[in-house]
Amino acid sequence: MTERPVDLRSDTVTRPTPAMLAAMSAAPVGDDVWGDDPTVAELYRVVTRLTGKEAALLFPTGTQCNLAAVMAHCGRGDEVILGRRAHVYAHEAGGASVLGGISFCPVENRPDGTLPIEAVRDAVRSDDIHHPRTGLICLENTFNGVVLPSDAVAETAALAAELGLPIHLDGARAWNAAVASGVAVEALCAPFDTVSLCFSKGLGTPAGSVLVGSGETIRRALRLRKMLGGGMRQSGLFAAACLHALDHHVERLAEDHRRAAALAEGLRGLGMFGDVRQATNMVFLAVPRDRCARLEAHLADAGILAAIRPSTRLVTHLDIDDADIDRALRAFAGFDAAATARAA
Ligand SMILES: *Cc1c(COP(=O)(O)O)cnc(C)c1O
Repeated sequence: MTERPVDLRSDTVTRPTPAMLAAMSAAPVGDDVWGDDPTVAELYRVVTRLTGKEAALLFPTGTQCNLAAVMAHCGRGDEVILGRRAHVYAHEAGGASVLGGISFCPVENRPDGTLPIEAVRDAVRSDDIHHPRTGLICLENTFNGVVLPSDAVAETAALAAELGLPIHLDGARAWNAAVASGVAVEALCAPFDTVSLCFSKGLGTPAGSVLVGSGETIRRALRLRKMLGGGMRQSGLFAAACLHALDHHVERLAEDHRRAAALAEGLRGLGMFGDVRQATNMVFLAVPRDRCARLEAHLADAGILAAIRPSTRLVTHLDIDDADIDRALRAFAGFDAAATARAA
């Protein structure tokens, strides 16, 4: 296989483009722990303007960014209300509990990623010595690629305000949400006290997530970032990649969404999978458990990388073009032919 593989496993697999690498190597840098890095300062000016928040802070990863945010809002013994399928709850190794002494109160997500408002209200603890203290509500946008409906977000934010609780958004893919919905990132961030934004997903940088919020919260997060081992030195290299991505890789997310829609359409046309759903840059399909391993191996032979599970997620990104979608669809179609031939 000399052809470049078509990697549909995640939008994190992108390599920096030559133009991004050039921007990184041209960036003026300094020691960011000393507050000396001019490119990091420029990133903060741009991101605070884009999000309408007072202050910003760069982290190596989204996981550390969310962890510092949760720890900035909550003390030991506090509890976070969030979705049972939220990344912060299910995919960050329980960091807030392990490292922050913070417990989780998961609520079942609706398929659109929102949390039923009555379930959130029920999850809020009363002032009782037996209970943990509710310290934070957390949402995620996009959620499995789905853009959260803004009225449900507003309702949850209004409840948080009524109860005097902070509310955090895991906005790892908020850029996709903004491009797909036509709603400005600032408006998506407005209901939240803090928002974490990933640059290493659809925007294609090798690393980098930014937390935005009030000056006071970001000052707490700065100390926490140091404590968590996330204070980097010439961080301007990453900030330069982020600035380049904001200039060149945001609007083009619409192409990822269009290609994911084409992939979903093509897969539906094959009639092999009962349920094919697509939202922004993600396609989900149901694969019978006993066919997963064979399908994954068949695709890999054809140069298509995908993690095939009973609920398979395929993700489009900067390194996937129209020809790659056609190639992937041909490979899926070839499996159907092979399986049908065996069955006959
Ligand atoms: C990727 C992701 C993160 C952060 O992940 P890192 O790999 O640590 O950068 C957080 N939330 C969601 C929803 C994500 O998809």
